[in-house]
This record gives sequence, structure tokens and C-alpha cells, in this order.
Amino acid sequence: MSKFMQGNSKRILVPGGAGYIGSHTCVELLNRGYTPVIVDNFVNSSMAAIDRICQITGANDVPVIEADIRDTEAMIGALREHECEAVIHFAGLKAVGESTANPLDYYSNNVQGSLSLLDAMRQTGVGHIVFSSSATVYGTPVSLPYTEDHPLAPTNPYGMTKYAVELMLNDLVASGAGINAGILRYFNPIGAHPTGLIGEDPNGVPNNLMPFVAQVAVGRRPHLNVFGNDYDTPDGTGVRDYIHVVDLAEAHIVALEKLLESPDSFTVNLGSGNGYSVLDVVKAFEQASGREIPLNFAERRAGDLPAYWADPSYAMELLGWKTRLTLEDMCRDQWAWQSGNPEGYPQREVGAA
Ligand code: NAD
Ligand code: UDP
Repeated sequence: MSKFMQGNSKRILVPGGAGYIGSHTCVELLNRGYTPVIVDNFVNSSMAAIDRICQITGANDVPVIEADIRDTEAMIGALREHECEAVIHFAGLKAVGESTANPLDYYSNNVQGSLSLLDAMRQTGVGHIVFSSSATVYGTPVSLPYTEDHPLAPTNPYGMTKYAVELMLNDLVASGAGINAGILRYFNPIGAHPTGLIGEDPNGVPNNLMPFVAQVAVGRRPHLNVFGNDYDTPDGTGVRDYIHVVDLAEAHIVALEKLLESPDSFTVNLGSGNGYSVLDVVKAFEQASGREIPLNFAERRAGDLPAYWADPSYAMELLGWKTRLTLEDMCRDQWAWQSGNPEGYPQREVGAA
């Protein structure tokens, strides 16, 4: 028996558990008495995140398997050895621009990887999976806010891979293979754990707004490029539904417990229902950090939608879950992470960005 298998705690396989959302979810799992079994190939994460998860939760250790989810035998071995009862699946690539340049990498990691993981679940009889999908599956809004029955028409390869995995999960559930699935469509996760010990640590120049703003605040970058200020939005800049990563992590526990309790599967939006513009975010971050964020108004970014946000009512109805943390909380905690770890996790080379 491995040292992680003592006691009654349910073990949950967490592919991608060393990454941004995965590490926050591992903290919430441990806080609630589950044992996360992390599988990661560390292509976009650091082993240091594991030490920090232990530091936050007081766990002595967490099982970590360094493997690629496309290695089906390794997934079977992990599920069997640790006697996992369910899977919370975060592993994959997530940069929209990169997915357009290298679509096959995205189909391989995200679709082939999920197929391999599901095959391992089928072969080992593990019957519950929570999957990280994205609001990007909706594509150009036909109506707003997005409800779960909005048409699905992703506009880039990354979104297509999420859509493909949703289809695969729905077909597998319908086949009677004994698997139920919770498909979670995230809106825009930002922020960090309030301890400032774990957070988003992007490789290279951040693509996303919040890590870019935080790096400007800490002096790593001279200014923020605001991509378009002529949209049909209240201040002309893009509007999104930002969600605190801790709220998001908590939603995974609720979704997991729903799957463990009932045979049903579900697909649900995870957002706040509020839209904030780029300038709203900048202002809130300046207040939280006490730092000025110099702005450069630039061209619209190709492929960006002007505005979208979630209808979060089904999450409340189905899971009894809604966001509780505000944009101010998100900025405060992002700043705690960024100011405490200006270059990201310790072993990342200084200046690697
Ligand atoms: P992340 O890059 O921080 O985490 C993903 C983790 O998966 C990383 O630790 C990476 O090393 C690992 N990984 C990647 N490919 C792998 C493979 N083939 N085998 C094993 N491990 C692999 O990203 P995140 O922001 O934490 O996102 C987690 C999930 O949520 C992803 O599936 C992402 O597409 C989805 N998602 C993220 C956002 C967002 O804005 N962050 C929004 C919607 C959906
Ligand atoms: N954005 C920006 N400058 C940046 C990064 C993003 O103005 O350096 C804007 C972007 O145009 C969008 C919003 O911030 O309106 C959120 O972008 P992000 O990439 O964080 O999320 P996504 O576009 O995937 O929703």
C-alpha cells in the first residue's frame, strides 16, 4: 500500500494538477479531505507548485506522476495504483494564437490526450470525470448572456478541441459505458490563492489580460497594450466575465460531488454573470496594487469578440454554486501572487519571459 492510501480519503486523479487552475483545485480538494493524485508532463507548469500546495494545506506530500495523458498505460497504472474514484481533467494546451499556428499539437494534446484518458477510465472502471471546457465553444454571440443552449461554433482550433472533447464525452456517456461527466465551461479565470503562494505563471509574454497587467505593475513590462478602444461597449474596450480562480476551484468540488452522488451528467457555465471592460480591470488593479498601469491604445486583436459574459443561473440551479469573490478580490490576490513572486515560481529562469 502506498503512503498516500492510508485513511479513508477519496483519491481523485488530477491530470494538469500542477497548472494554474489545477493547483488551486488541488488545494480545495485537500481542504475537503480528498487526496489529489496529480498527473502532469510539466510542459506549462512547475514542480514548485506542488510544494506550495503542500505549504498552503499542511499536507505532508501529494502524489505526483510525471507523465503525458496520451500515455494510456501510464494513466491506467495511475488510476489502478492509487485506486482513484474520479478524474478532474485539466491537462491540455490553452493558447488560442498558438492553436492557430500549430493546430495538430492542440488536437494531439487536447483531443487525443482526452481520448487516451477516457480509454484508461473505461479499462479501469473509473466512472466520473469533470472536464475543463471553455466559453470559447460558443463563438460569435447570437444572444447574450451565453446560456448553455447557445449554439456552439468555436472560431479557433483551441475552441474546436474543447468542442470535440465535449462531443466525445457526450457520446461516451450515452453509450452506457458507466461513465458520467461534468462539463464545465469556464469564462475568464483570474486572480490567485489569497496566500499569494500559487498563481498563474505564464511562459513567455502573457497572452491574457490579467497576467500582463500584473507584470506591468511589477515592472517586468513597460505598458499594457489595450487591444481596441472602438468596440460597441460602454468605454470602447473589450468586455469579459472574469471569475476568481478560487471560486472556480470550489465549483470543481461541487461538480465532483454531484457526479459521485448521482448518475446524471451535465454541462454548465462557470461565470459571474458580470461583464467588465479592459479599463475596468486596469482601474481595479491600480487600486489594489497602488501601482500605475501605463496604457498604449493599440489595434484590435485578430479574432477577439467585443463582449461576452455568462448566464450563471443554471450553475445555481444544478449545483447550488455561484461566485462569491469580486473583481477587487481578484486584483488583490493577483497582486499578492505577482508581488511575492515577480518572476513566477522559483526555479523558472529569471528573464525567461
Ligand atoms: P495550465 O497550462 O496552467 O494547466 C494545464 C496543465 O496541463 C499544465 O500543468 C501542463 O503542464 C499540463 N499538460 C498540458 N498538456 C499535457 C499532457 N499532454 N499531458 C499531461 N499534462 C499536460 O492551464 P490552466 O489555465 O490551468 O487551464 C486548465 C484547463 O482549463 C485547460 O484544459 C484549459 O484549456 C482550460 N481552460 C482554461 C481557461 C483559462 O483562461 N485559464 C479558460 C477556459 C478553459
Ligand atoms: N486584452 C488587452 N491587452 C492584452 C491582453 C488582452 O487589451 O494584452 C484584452 C482582450 O482584447 C480582451 C480582454 O482583454 O478584450 C480579455 O482578453 P484575454 O486574452 O485575457 O481573454 P479572452 O480574450 O480569451 O477572453
